[in-house]
Amino acid sequence: METPGSQSSLHRANLERVVRAVRLAGSLTQAEIARGTGLSAATVSNIVRELRDNGTVQVTPTSSGGRRARSVSLSGDAGIVVGVDFGHSHLRVAVGNLAHQVLAEQTEPIDVDASAAQGFDRAEQLVGQLIETTGIGADKVIGVGLGVPGPIDVATGVLGSTAILPGWGGINPREELSARLGMPVHVDNDANLGALGELVWGAGRGVKDLAYIKVASGVGAGLVINGQIYRGPGGTAGEIGHITLDESGPVCRCGNRGCLETFTAARYVLDLLRGSHGPDLTVPKMVRLARDGDPGCRRVVADVGRHVGMGVANLCNVLNPSRVVLGGELAEAGEVVLGPIRESVARYAIPSAARQLAVVPGALGARAEVLGALALVLSEMGDSTLLPDSAPTALAFS
Ligand SMILES: [Zn+2]
Repeated sequence: METPGSQSSLHRANLERVVRAVRLAGSLTQAEIARGTGLSAATVSNIVRELRDNGTVQVTPTSSGGRRARSVSLSGDAGIVVGVDFGHSHLRVAVGNLAHQVLAEQTEPIDVDASAAQGFDRAEQLVGQLIETTGIGADKVIGVGLGVPGPIDVATGVLGSTAILPGWGGINPREELSARLGMPVHVDNDANLGALGELVWGAGRGVKDLAYIKVASGVGAGLVINGQIYRGPGGTAGEIGHITLDESGPVCRCGNRGCLETFTAARYVLDLLRGSHGPDLTVPKMVRLARDGDPGCRRVVADVGRHVGMGVANLCNVLNPSRVVLGGELAEAGEVVLGPIRESVARYAIPSAARQLAVVPGALGARAEVLGALALVLSEMGDSTLLPDSAPTALAFS
């Protein structure tokens, strides 16, 4: 029996620290591992050699600042992870490996709100098909990340409000998918997964404190604080859509008046353009027209930016993030929307918080959530399961 603090348990802890650093970052040079873990360069070098010899990590030549370096990532064939993202009108599935490579991905339109059973039927089929195209056995799946477009209690897997997904009443999405696939499932809302996706693969790489803002049928923020998603005890952290902007404004679906959402969400802003642009206008079309210089659409998109910026300014004063990543369809408007967000932040946030903030568009577009679902599994899986002598049941039979 090892005692804590003994030489071997210290060694074990160091192995896990290195595995953890690489697992979350995708790939790192040995110097980056040393900086991130606080271990000495010599210790990192020894540990990486040991992990490479037992097949946990792979080491490939790369260059860092013009110098030759070695890039360390988890071994690509150590296991695979699956991401399933339900939007209101789409289903997207991706399969990746532990080296952070996406091996297969597919998306299709589906009316997720109408029937949960149909959505899960299709998700189950797609997951099976995509795993098959990778040629890797389903027994190699470490876990599945599941994204749903609404607040969800991560601990219980229960949806916070079925008003957002009318066809999903009485369903626990995590248990439903887990039972169908026979695999462990981790669940989170779309804003948190978008934040994780951009943090690991996109516009948030290397940033420890960021907010991912998604404007769609609602407005939500995924908050990353010190490298971790912050959910709050009930999973409702980041609901910036319900910051009050106007006490006497329109009644919001939450029951309050003049919430940020009533100035920015699709159905409210499209209403503003109904008279001038007809009843069939959609958000992607409005964004395209705004980019092409249509004055009415430009004005409305800029006003949305201004209002989102007021929410971001509040967020800045409370959390002081260093980067805000704008996701969703609205980000396609580029400077038409980003400029007014920055102006509002400069106007309403305290200068010391505003100065440090960069407001940038997401780099992953509509893929942010499904990649975030992969990242969720990578962040939730333990480190010890990746190390060879930590699977006593497997060893007992070998
Ligand atoms: Zn509200």
